[in-house]
Amino acid sequence: MGAGPAGARAALRAKASGLSVVLVDENNDAGGQVWRPLPDGFGRLPGIVAPVEARDGDALRHELRQAGVLCLFGHKVWNVGSNLRTDVISPEGSVSWLPSALLVATGTTERVIPFAGWTAPGVMGLAAATILLKSQNMLPGRRTLVVGCGPLLLAVANGILKAGGEVAAVIDLASRMDWLRTLSALKARPDLLWQGMRWQANLRLAGVPMLYRHGIESVVTTQAGFDARIRPVDASGAPVDGAGRVFSVDAVTVGHGLVPGTDVTRLLRARHYYSADIGGWVAESDEMGRTSVPGLFVAGDGAGVAGAAAAGAHGELAALACAHDLGRVSQKQYALERTGLLAKRRQPARFGRAMAGLMALREGAVAAIKPETVVCRCEDVTRAEIDAAAQEGACDLNQLKAWTRCGMGPCQGRTCGDVAGALLALNIGSRESVGYFTGRAPLRPVSLAEVAGQYTYADIPIPKAAPL
Ligand SMILES: Cc1cc2nc3c(=O)[nH]c(=O)nc-3n(C[C@H](O)[C@H](O)[C@H](O)COP(=O)(O)OP(=O)(O)OC[C@H]3O[C@@H](n4cnc5c(N)ncnc54)[C@H](O)[C@@H]3O)c2cc1C
Repeated sequence: MGAGPAGARAALRAKASGLSVVLVDENNDAGGQVWRPLPDGFGRLPGIVAPVEARDGDALRHELRQAGVLCLFGHKVWNVGSNLRTDVISPEGSVSWLPSALLVATGTTERVIPFAGWTAPGVMGLAAATILLKSQNMLPGRRTLVVGCGPLLLAVANGILKAGGEVAAVIDLASRMDWLRTLSALKARPDLLWQGMRWQANLRLAGVPMLYRHGIESVVTTQAGFDARIRPVDASGAPVDGAGRVFSVDAVTVGHGLVPGTDVTRLLRARHYYSADIGGWVAESDEMGRTSVPGLFVAGDGAGVAGAAAAGAHGELAALACAHDLGRVSQKQYALERTGLLAKRRQPARFGRAMAGLMALREGAVAAIKPETVVCRCEDVTRAEIDAAAQEGACDLNQLKAWTRCGMGPCQGRTCGDVAGALLALNIGSRESVGYFTGRAPLRPVSLAEVAGQYTYADIPIPKAAPL
Protein backbone atom coordinates (compact mmCIF):
# COMPACT_ATOMS: atom_id res chain seq x y z
CA MET A 1 0.00 0.00 0.00
CA GLY A 2 1.64 3.23 -1.24
CA ALA A 3 3.77 3.54 -4.37
CA GLY A 4 6.38 5.95 -3.03
CA PRO A 5 10.05 4.91 -2.85
CA ALA A 6 9.31 2.44 -0.02
CA GLY A 7 6.21 0.76 -1.42
CA ALA A 8 7.44 0.63 -5.02
CA ARG A 9 10.84 -0.86 -4.08
CA ALA A 10 9.02 -3.35 -1.84
CA ALA A 11 6.72 -4.39 -4.67
CA LEU A 12 9.70 -4.95 -6.98
CA ARG A 13 11.51 -7.04 -4.38
CA ALA A 14 8.40 -9.08 -3.50
CA LYS A 15 7.68 -9.73 -7.17
CA ALA A 16 11.26 -10.93 -7.66
CA SER A 17 10.60 -13.56 -4.96
CA GLY A 18 7.71 -14.93 -6.96
CA LEU A 19 4.98 -13.46 -4.78
CA SER A 20 1.78 -12.30 -6.38
CA VAL A 21 1.89 -8.56 -5.76
CA VAL A 22 -0.61 -5.72 -6.06
CA LEU A 23 0.79 -2.20 -5.64
CA VAL A 24 -1.95 0.28 -4.86
CA ASP A 25 -1.83 4.07 -4.62
CA GLU A 26 -4.36 6.86 -4.76
CA ASN A 27 -2.00 8.90 -6.95
CA ASN A 28 -1.96 8.44 -10.70
CA ASP A 29 1.52 6.98 -10.91
CA ALA A 30 4.38 5.74 -8.76
CA GLY A 31 6.86 8.06 -7.06
CA GLY A 32 5.05 9.03 -3.87
CA GLN A 33 5.39 12.49 -2.44
CA VAL A 34 8.98 13.04 -3.43
CA TRP A 35 9.22 11.72 -7.00
CA ARG A 36 6.04 13.11 -8.46
CA PRO A 37 5.53 12.60 -12.18
CA LEU A 38 4.04 15.38 -14.29
CA PRO A 39 0.63 14.83 -15.86
CA ASP A 40 0.63 13.76 -19.53
CA GLY A 41 1.50 16.65 -21.82
CA PHE A 42 3.36 18.68 -19.18
CA GLY A 43 7.02 19.51 -19.79
CA ARG A 44 9.35 19.74 -16.81
CA LEU A 45 10.55 23.29 -16.13
CA PRO A 46 14.33 23.17 -15.65
CA GLY A 47 15.54 23.40 -12.08
CA ILE A 48 12.22 22.98 -10.23
CA VAL A 49 12.84 19.29 -9.58
CA ALA A 50 16.36 18.38 -8.47
CA PRO A 51 18.03 16.28 -11.20
CA VAL A 52 18.64 13.44 -8.73
CA GLU A 53 14.89 13.30 -7.93
CA ALA A 54 13.82 13.38 -11.58
CA ARG A 55 16.29 10.61 -12.41
CA ASP A 56 15.32 8.36 -9.50
CA GLY A 57 11.59 8.80 -10.05
CA ASP A 58 11.73 8.06 -13.78
CA ALA A 59 13.98 5.03 -13.14
CA LEU A 60 11.57 3.64 -10.55
CA ARG A 61 8.53 3.99 -12.83
CA HIS A 62 10.47 2.34 -15.67
CA GLU A 63 11.49 -0.57 -13.43
CA LEU A 64 7.93 -1.16 -12.29
CA ARG A 65 6.75 -1.36 -15.89
CA GLN A 66 9.62 -3.66 -16.90
CA ALA A 67 9.02 -6.02 -13.96
CA GLY A 68 5.32 -6.27 -14.75
CA VAL A 69 4.20 -5.38 -11.22
CA LEU A 70 0.41 -5.06 -11.12
CA CYS A 71 0.04 -1.37 -10.27
CA LEU A 72 -3.37 -0.02 -9.43
CA PHE A 73 -3.21 3.77 -9.41
CA GLY A 74 -6.10 6.07 -8.62
CA HIS A 75 -7.13 3.49 -6.01
CA LYS A 76 -7.63 4.70 -2.44
CA VAL A 77 -7.63 2.29 0.47
CA TRP A 78 -10.42 3.35 2.83
CA ASN A 79 -10.54 0.39 5.22
CA VAL A 80 -8.46 -2.56 6.39
CA GLY A 81 -10.07 -5.33 8.44
CA SER A 82 -8.47 -7.38 11.20
CA ASN A 83 -7.93 -10.27 8.73
CA LEU A 84 -6.10 -7.73 6.47
CA ARG A 85 -9.12 -7.48 4.17
CA THR A 86 -8.34 -4.34 2.23
CA ASP A 87 -11.23 -2.23 0.93
CA VAL A 88 -10.46 0.10 -1.92
CA ILE A 89 -12.32 2.68 -3.99
CA SER A 90 -11.15 2.45 -7.57
CA PRO A 91 -12.20 4.55 -10.59
CA GLU A 92 -14.46 1.60 -11.50
CA GLY A 93 -16.05 1.27 -8.07
CA SER A 94 -15.37 -0.50 -4.82
CA VAL A 95 -13.15 -3.60 -4.58
CA SER A 96 -11.80 -5.72 -1.72
CA TRP A 97 -8.85 -8.05 -1.44
CA LEU A 98 -7.81 -10.58 1.17
CA PRO A 99 -4.00 -10.57 1.00
CA SER A 100 -1.70 -12.99 2.84
CA ALA A 101 0.39 -10.01 3.92
CA LEU A 102 -0.04 -6.25 3.85
CA LEU A 103 2.92 -3.93 3.55
CA VAL A 104 1.98 -0.39 4.51
CA ALA A 105 4.21 2.33 3.02
CA THR A 106 1.91 5.32 3.19
CA GLY A 107 4.50 7.99 4.00
CA THR A 108 3.79 11.11 6.04
CA THR A 109 1.49 14.07 6.52
CA GLU A 110 2.94 17.50 7.00
CA ARG A 111 2.68 19.28 10.32
CA VAL A 112 1.76 22.93 10.66
CA ILE A 113 1.84 24.49 14.13
CA PRO A 114 -1.21 26.76 14.04
CA PHE A 115 -0.91 30.56 14.24
CA ALA A 116 -3.37 33.39 13.67
CA GLY A 117 -4.46 33.32 10.03
CA TRP A 118 -3.07 29.87 9.14
CA THR A 119 -6.35 28.72 7.60
CA ALA A 120 -6.65 31.68 5.20
CA PRO A 121 -6.67 30.76 1.50
CA GLY A 122 -3.18 31.41 0.14
CA VAL A 123 -1.48 30.09 3.27
CA MET A 124 -0.42 26.55 2.43
CA GLY A 125 1.83 23.76 3.58
CA LEU A 126 5.47 23.78 2.62
CA ALA A 127 5.20 20.17 1.47
CA ALA A 128 1.97 21.06 -0.29
CA ALA A 129 3.89 23.73 -2.21
CA THR A 130 6.23 21.01 -3.51
CA ILE A 131 3.17 19.30 -5.01
CA LEU A 132 2.15 22.50 -6.81
CA LEU A 133 5.64 23.08 -8.10
CA LYS A 134 6.52 19.51 -9.02
CA SER A 135 3.33 18.16 -10.44
CA GLN A 136 1.70 21.29 -11.83
CA ASN A 137 4.66 23.63 -12.58
CA MET A 138 2.75 26.14 -10.53
CA LEU A 139 3.85 28.86 -8.13
CA PRO A 140 2.17 29.27 -4.72
CA GLY A 141 2.02 33.03 -5.42
CA ARG A 142 3.95 35.83 -7.09
CA ARG A 143 5.76 36.82 -3.88
CA THR A 144 5.95 34.05 -1.29
CA LEU A 145 7.16 33.82 2.28
CA VAL A 146 8.73 30.42 3.03
CA VAL A 147 8.46 29.49 6.71
CA GLY A 148 9.08 26.52 8.99
CA CYS A 149 11.95 24.10 9.46
CA GLY A 150 13.93 21.39 7.74
CA PRO A 151 15.23 20.81 4.23
CA LEU A 152 11.93 21.50 2.47
CA LEU A 153 12.51 25.22 3.22
CA LEU A 154 15.45 25.29 0.82
CA ALA A 155 13.81 22.97 -1.70
CA VAL A 156 10.65 25.07 -1.94
CA ALA A 157 12.42 28.44 -1.96
CA ASN A 158 14.65 27.24 -4.81
CA GLY A 159 11.75 25.73 -6.72
CA ILE A 160 9.94 29.09 -6.53
CA LEU A 161 12.97 31.00 -7.81
CA LYS A 162 13.49 28.53 -10.65
CA ALA A 163 9.84 28.78 -11.65
CA GLY A 164 10.15 32.55 -11.89
CA GLY A 165 8.58 33.54 -8.57
CA GLU A 166 9.87 35.83 -5.85
CA VAL A 167 10.81 34.60 -2.38
CA ALA A 168 10.26 37.36 0.18
CA ALA A 169 12.35 35.54 2.82
CA VAL A 170 13.11 32.12 4.26
CA ILE A 171 12.17 31.91 7.94
CA ASP A 172 13.73 28.97 9.80
CA LEU A 173 12.98 27.82 13.36
CA ALA A 174 16.43 26.22 13.44
CA SER A 175 19.66 28.13 14.08
CA ARG A 176 22.74 28.06 11.84
CA MET A 177 24.31 25.97 14.59
CA ASP A 178 21.49 23.39 14.38
CA TRP A 179 22.32 22.98 10.69
CA LEU A 180 26.06 22.79 11.32
CA ARG A 181 25.51 20.01 13.87
CA THR A 182 23.98 17.85 11.13
CA LEU A 183 27.08 18.17 8.93
CA SER A 184 28.76 14.91 9.91
CA ALA A 185 25.55 12.97 9.14
CA LEU A 186 25.06 14.90 5.89
CA LYS A 187 28.44 13.70 4.67
CA ALA A 188 26.76 10.28 4.32
CA ARG A 189 25.10 11.66 1.16
CA PRO A 190 27.61 14.01 -0.52
CA ASP A 191 25.28 14.45 -3.52
CA LEU A 192 22.44 15.74 -1.34
CA LEU A 193 24.82 17.82 0.79
CA TRP A 194 26.11 19.44 -2.39
CA GLN A 195 22.56 20.05 -3.60
CA GLY A 196 21.72 21.74 -0.26
CA MET A 197 24.78 23.96 -0.53
CA ARG A 198 23.84 24.94 -4.08
CA TRP A 199 20.34 25.80 -2.93
CA GLN A 200 21.78 28.01 -0.16
CA ALA A 201 24.08 29.73 -2.64
CA ASN A 202 21.23 30.34 -5.12
CA LEU A 203 19.16 32.01 -2.42
CA ARG A 204 22.03 34.23 -1.37
CA LEU A 205 22.74 35.18 -4.98
CA ALA A 206 19.09 36.10 -5.44
CA GLY A 207 19.33 38.29 -2.33
CA VAL A 208 16.70 36.33 -0.40
CA PRO A 209 16.86 37.18 3.33
CA MET A 210 17.29 34.05 5.49
CA LEU A 211 16.24 34.52 9.09
CA TYR A 212 17.31 31.73 11.44
CA ARG A 213 15.70 31.17 14.85
CA HIS A 214 12.58 32.98 13.71
CA GLY A 215 8.99 31.81 13.57
CA ILE A 216 5.70 33.08 12.26
CA GLU A 217 3.35 34.89 14.61
CA SER A 218 0.39 35.79 12.41
CA VAL A 219 -0.90 36.34 8.93
CA VAL A 220 -3.34 39.19 8.34
CA THR A 221 -5.25 39.30 5.07
CA THR A 222 -4.89 42.59 3.19
CA GLN A 223 -6.22 43.78 -0.17
CA ALA A 224 -2.98 42.82 -1.89
CA GLY A 225 -2.45 39.52 -0.05
CA PHE A 226 -1.05 39.12 3.44
CA ASP A 227 0.99 40.88 6.07
CA ALA A 228 2.95 38.07 7.71
CA ARG A 229 4.47 38.91 11.10
CA ILE A 230 7.74 37.17 11.99
CA ARG A 231 9.42 37.12 15.39
CA PRO A 232 12.60 35.71 16.96
CA VAL A 233 12.27 32.42 18.87
CA ASP A 234 14.41 30.30 21.18
CA ALA A 235 15.57 26.72 20.63
CA SER A 236 12.17 25.37 21.65
CA GLY A 237 10.39 27.61 19.14
CA ALA A 238 8.98 29.87 21.89
CA PRO A 239 8.89 33.60 21.06
CA VAL A 240 11.57 35.73 22.67
CA ASP A 241 12.07 39.48 22.95
CA GLY A 242 13.55 41.09 19.89
CA ALA A 243 12.57 42.97 16.78
CA GLY A 244 9.88 41.30 14.69
CA ARG A 245 9.37 41.98 11.01
CA VAL A 246 6.38 42.15 8.70
CA PHE A 247 6.53 40.83 5.13
CA SER A 248 3.88 41.82 2.61
CA VAL A 249 3.33 38.85 0.31
CA ASP A 250 0.57 37.13 -1.63
CA ALA A 251 1.35 33.57 -0.48
CA VAL A 252 2.77 31.94 2.63
CA THR A 253 4.09 28.39 2.62
CA VAL A 254 4.64 26.98 6.07
CA GLY A 255 5.65 23.56 7.37
CA HIS A 256 6.93 22.38 10.74
CA GLY A 257 7.95 18.86 9.86
CA LEU A 258 6.43 15.56 8.79
CA VAL A 259 4.31 13.17 10.84
CA PRO A 260 4.37 9.44 9.99
CA GLY A 261 1.09 8.14 8.57
CA THR A 262 -0.09 5.51 11.03
CA ASP A 263 -3.77 5.34 10.16
CA VAL A 264 -3.64 1.69 9.03
CA THR A 265 -1.49 0.43 11.90
CA ARG A 266 -3.68 2.30 14.41
CA LEU A 267 -6.79 0.88 12.75
CA LEU A 268 -5.39 -2.65 13.17
CA ARG A 269 -4.46 -1.95 16.81
CA ALA A 270 -0.74 -2.61 16.26
CA ARG A 271 1.49 -1.49 19.15
CA HIS A 272 2.95 2.01 18.72
CA TYR A 273 5.58 4.13 20.45
CA TYR A 274 6.35 7.85 20.51
CA SER A 275 9.64 9.27 19.26
CA ALA A 276 9.82 13.01 18.50
CA ASP A 277 13.04 12.63 16.48
CA ILE A 278 11.40 10.48 13.81
CA GLY A 279 8.16 12.43 13.58
CA GLY A 280 6.05 11.22 16.54
CA TRP A 281 3.97 8.07 16.95
CA VAL A 282 5.03 5.08 14.86
CA ALA A 283 4.13 1.39 14.84
CA GLU A 284 6.55 -0.82 16.73
CA SER A 285 8.44 -2.89 14.18
CA ASP A 286 11.62 -4.91 13.91
CA GLU A 287 14.37 -3.79 11.53
CA MET A 288 12.61 -5.77 8.77
CA GLY A 289 9.33 -3.90 9.18
CA ARG A 290 7.35 -6.65 10.95
CA THR A 291 4.77 -5.09 13.26
CA SER A 292 3.04 -6.58 16.30
CA VAL A 293 0.16 -7.71 14.01
CA PRO A 294 0.90 -10.95 12.13
CA GLY A 295 1.18 -10.36 8.37
CA LEU A 296 1.31 -6.57 8.73
CA PHE A 297 4.55 -4.84 7.66
CA VAL A 298 5.57 -1.19 7.59
CA ALA A 299 8.27 0.59 5.58
CA GLY A 300 9.45 4.05 4.65
CA ASP A 301 8.70 7.36 6.32
CA GLY A 302 5.42 6.04 7.70
CA ALA A 303 7.53 3.86 9.97
CA GLY A 304 9.63 6.85 11.12
CA VAL A 305 10.90 9.77 9.02
CA ALA A 306 14.26 8.96 7.40
CA GLY A 307 13.89 10.35 3.87
CA ALA A 308 13.36 8.97 0.41
CA ALA A 309 16.72 7.23 -0.07
CA ALA A 310 16.38 5.22 3.12
CA ALA A 311 12.71 4.50 2.36
CA GLY A 312 13.60 2.42 -0.72
CA ALA A 313 15.97 0.12 1.16
CA HIS A 314 13.47 -0.15 4.01
CA GLY A 315 10.81 -1.25 1.53
CA GLU A 316 13.13 -3.93 0.17
CA LEU A 317 13.87 -5.17 3.71
CA ALA A 318 10.17 -5.45 4.53
CA ALA A 319 9.44 -7.24 1.25
CA LEU A 320 12.26 -9.68 1.94
CA ALA A 321 10.80 -10.40 5.40
CA CYS A 322 7.38 -10.82 3.84
CA ALA A 323 8.68 -13.28 1.22
CA HIS A 324 10.58 -15.16 3.91
CA ASP A 325 7.58 -15.39 6.23
CA LEU A 326 5.40 -16.62 3.34
CA GLY A 327 7.96 -19.33 2.59
CA ARG A 328 9.31 -17.91 -0.69
CA VAL A 329 12.86 -17.22 0.48
CA SER A 330 15.15 -19.70 2.20
CA GLN A 331 16.66 -18.93 5.59
CA LYS A 332 20.12 -18.76 4.03
CA GLN A 333 19.13 -16.31 1.30
CA TYR A 334 17.18 -14.28 3.83
CA ALA A 335 20.19 -13.91 6.15
CA LEU A 336 22.49 -13.02 3.26
CA GLU A 337 20.24 -10.40 1.68
CA ARG A 338 19.22 -8.96 5.00
CA THR A 339 22.81 -8.07 5.87
CA GLY A 340 23.35 -6.38 2.50
CA LEU A 341 20.10 -4.40 2.66
CA LEU A 342 20.68 -3.26 6.25
CA ALA A 343 24.08 -1.94 5.16
CA LYS A 344 22.49 -0.25 2.10
CA ARG A 345 19.99 1.56 4.35
CA ARG A 346 22.44 2.68 7.04
CA GLN A 347 24.05 5.73 5.36
CA PRO A 348 20.92 7.27 3.81
CA ALA A 349 19.03 6.66 7.05
CA ARG A 350 21.72 8.56 8.93
CA PHE A 351 21.29 11.48 6.56
CA GLY A 352 17.50 11.26 6.72
CA ARG A 353 17.41 11.05 10.52
CA ALA A 354 19.55 14.20 10.76
CA MET A 355 17.03 16.02 8.56
CA ALA A 356 14.14 14.56 10.57
CA GLY A 357 15.80 15.89 13.73
CA LEU A 358 15.64 19.42 12.30
CA MET A 359 11.91 18.91 11.75
CA ALA A 360 11.14 17.50 15.22
CA LEU A 361 8.23 19.17 16.99
CA ARG A 362 9.34 22.20 19.01
CA GLU A 363 7.22 22.38 22.13
CA GLY A 364 7.77 26.11 22.71
CA ALA A 365 6.11 26.82 19.37
CA VAL A 366 3.12 24.70 20.41
CA ALA A 367 2.92 26.40 23.81
CA ALA A 368 2.82 29.78 22.02
CA ILE A 369 -0.41 28.98 20.12
CA LYS A 370 -2.97 31.66 21.10
CA PRO A 371 -6.20 30.55 22.85
CA GLU A 372 -8.45 31.78 20.02
CA THR A 373 -6.43 30.03 17.27
CA VAL A 374 -8.17 27.13 15.52
CA VAL A 375 -6.21 23.88 15.93
CA CYS A 376 -8.61 21.36 14.33
CA ARG A 377 -9.60 23.09 11.12
CA CYS A 378 -12.13 20.43 10.05
CA GLU A 379 -14.22 20.96 13.18
CA ASP A 380 -13.13 24.51 14.13
CA VAL A 381 -11.79 23.52 17.56
CA THR A 382 -9.63 26.22 19.16
CA ARG A 383 -6.72 25.90 21.54
CA ALA A 384 -8.91 27.37 24.31
CA GLU A 385 -11.41 24.52 23.84
CA ILE A 386 -8.62 21.94 24.05
CA ASP A 387 -7.24 23.55 27.22
CA ALA A 388 -10.73 23.71 28.72
CA ALA A 389 -11.34 20.01 28.01
CA ALA A 390 -8.01 19.19 29.67
CA GLN A 391 -8.93 21.26 32.73
CA GLU A 392 -12.28 19.50 32.92
CA GLY A 393 -10.61 16.09 32.96
CA ALA A 394 -10.05 14.87 29.39
CA CYS A 395 -7.03 12.68 30.00
CA ASP A 396 -6.27 11.29 26.57
CA LEU A 397 -6.70 12.25 22.92
CA ASN A 398 -9.76 10.06 22.46
CA GLN A 399 -11.57 11.76 25.34
CA LEU A 400 -10.58 15.10 23.86
CA LYS A 401 -12.07 13.96 20.55
CA ALA A 402 -15.32 12.85 22.17
CA TRP A 403 -15.67 16.08 24.14
CA THR A 404 -14.66 18.64 21.53
CA ARG A 405 -14.90 16.85 18.10
CA CYS A 406 -11.18 17.63 17.62
CA GLY A 407 -9.94 15.11 15.01
CA MET A 408 -13.44 13.96 14.09
CA GLY A 409 -13.66 15.68 10.69
CA PRO A 410 -12.82 14.50 7.17
CA CYS A 411 -9.05 14.41 7.76
CA GLN A 412 -9.57 12.08 10.75
CA GLY A 413 -6.98 13.95 12.79
CA ARG A 414 -4.16 13.65 10.25
CA THR A 415 -3.71 17.44 10.23
CA CYS A 416 -4.35 18.32 13.88
CA GLY A 417 -3.65 15.07 15.80
CA ASP A 418 0.01 15.68 16.47
CA VAL A 419 -0.38 19.28 17.67
CA ALA A 420 -3.56 18.46 19.65
CA GLY A 421 -1.64 15.67 21.39
CA ALA A 422 1.20 18.06 22.20
CA LEU A 423 -1.26 20.63 23.62
CA LEU A 424 -2.98 18.03 25.77
CA ALA A 425 0.40 16.78 26.96
CA LEU A 426 1.39 20.35 27.92
CA ASN A 427 -1.73 20.46 30.10
CA ILE A 428 -1.72 17.05 31.72
CA GLY A 429 1.33 14.91 31.11
CA SER A 430 3.51 13.24 28.51
CA ARG A 431 2.81 12.38 24.86
CA GLU A 432 2.82 8.72 25.90
CA SER A 433 0.09 9.28 28.48
CA VAL A 434 -2.23 11.23 26.16
CA GLY A 435 -1.75 8.64 23.39
CA TYR A 436 -3.11 8.95 19.85
CA PHE A 437 -6.48 8.92 18.11
CA THR A 438 -7.80 5.38 17.79
CA GLY A 439 -7.68 4.44 14.10
CA ARG A 440 -11.09 4.42 12.44
CA ALA A 441 -12.38 3.74 8.96
CA PRO A 442 -12.83 5.42 6.57
CA LEU A 443 -9.14 6.22 6.17
CA ARG A 444 -10.06 8.63 3.40
CA PRO A 445 -13.27 10.58 2.88
CA VAL A 446 -15.54 8.35 0.75
CA SER A 447 -19.17 8.67 -0.15
CA LEU A 448 -21.73 6.03 0.79
CA ALA A 449 -22.54 5.63 -2.90
CA GLU A 450 -18.87 4.77 -3.65
CA VAL A 451 -18.77 2.15 -0.91
CA ALA A 452 -22.16 0.64 -1.71
CA GLY A 453 -21.32 0.42 -5.43
CA GLN A 454 -23.86 -0.62 -8.05
CA TYR A 455 -27.00 -2.38 -6.85
CA THR A 456 -30.71 -2.39 -7.51
CA TYR A 457 -33.21 -2.05 -4.71
CA ALA A 458 -35.07 -5.10 -6.02
CA ASP A 459 -32.06 -7.30 -5.19
CA ILE A 460 -32.01 -6.33 -1.53
CA PRO A 461 -33.42 -9.27 0.49
CA ILE A 462 -36.40 -8.14 2.55
CA PRO A 463 -36.71 -9.98 5.86
CA LYS A 464 -40.09 -11.52 6.57
CA ALA A 465 -42.23 -9.61 8.99
CA ALA A 466 -41.86 -10.87 12.54
CA PRO A 467 -44.99 -12.69 13.80
CA LEU A 468 -47.02 -10.45 16.07
C1 LIG B 1 3.27 16.54 0.71
C2 LIG B 1 4.71 16.07 0.86
C3 LIG B 1 5.69 16.54 -0.02
C4 LIG B 1 7.01 16.15 0.11
N1 LIG B 1 7.94 16.64 -0.76
C5 LIG B 1 9.21 16.26 -0.65
C6 LIG B 1 10.22 16.78 -1.53
O1 LIG B 1 9.92 17.60 -2.38
N2 LIG B 1 11.50 16.36 -1.37
C7 LIG B 1 11.85 15.43 -0.41
O2 LIG B 1 13.03 15.06 -0.31
N3 LIG B 1 10.93 14.93 0.43
C8 LIG B 1 9.65 15.32 0.34
N4 LIG B 1 8.73 14.84 1.23
C9 LIG B 1 9.16 13.78 2.14
C10 LIG B 1 9.12 12.49 1.31
O3 LIG B 1 7.76 12.27 1.03
C11 LIG B 1 9.63 11.24 1.92
O4 LIG B 1 10.91 11.36 2.43
C12 LIG B 1 9.60 10.05 0.94
O5 LIG B 1 8.76 10.25 -0.13
C13 LIG B 1 9.16 8.85 1.72
O6 LIG B 1 8.84 7.78 0.87
P1 LIG B 1 7.69 6.77 1.28
O7 LIG B 1 7.66 5.74 0.20
O8 LIG B 1 7.88 6.31 2.67
O9 LIG B 1 6.34 7.60 1.28
P2 LIG B 1 5.65 8.51 0.18
O10 LIG B 1 6.58 8.92 -0.88
O11 LIG B 1 4.94 9.57 0.93
O12 LIG B 1 4.57 7.53 -0.50
C14 LIG B 1 3.41 7.13 0.17
C15 LIG B 1 2.35 6.81 -0.85
O13 LIG B 1 1.23 6.21 -0.19
C16 LIG B 1 0.06 6.63 -0.84
N5 LIG B 1 -1.07 6.48 0.09
C17 LIG B 1 -1.16 6.94 1.36
N6 LIG B 1 -2.34 6.60 1.89
C18 LIG B 1 -3.02 5.93 0.94
C19 LIG B 1 -4.33 5.34 0.88
N7 LIG B 1 -5.17 5.37 1.93
N8 LIG B 1 -4.71 4.73 -0.27
C20 LIG B 1 -3.88 4.68 -1.34
N9 LIG B 1 -2.64 5.23 -1.35
C21 LIG B 1 -2.22 5.84 -0.23
C22 LIG B 1 0.34 8.09 -1.21
O14 LIG B 1 -0.47 8.50 -2.29
C23 LIG B 1 1.83 8.05 -1.57
O15 LIG B 1 2.03 7.93 -2.95
C24 LIG B 1 7.38 15.24 1.14
C25 LIG B 1 6.41 14.79 2.04
C26 LIG B 1 5.09 15.21 1.92
C27 LIG B 1 4.04 14.73 2.91
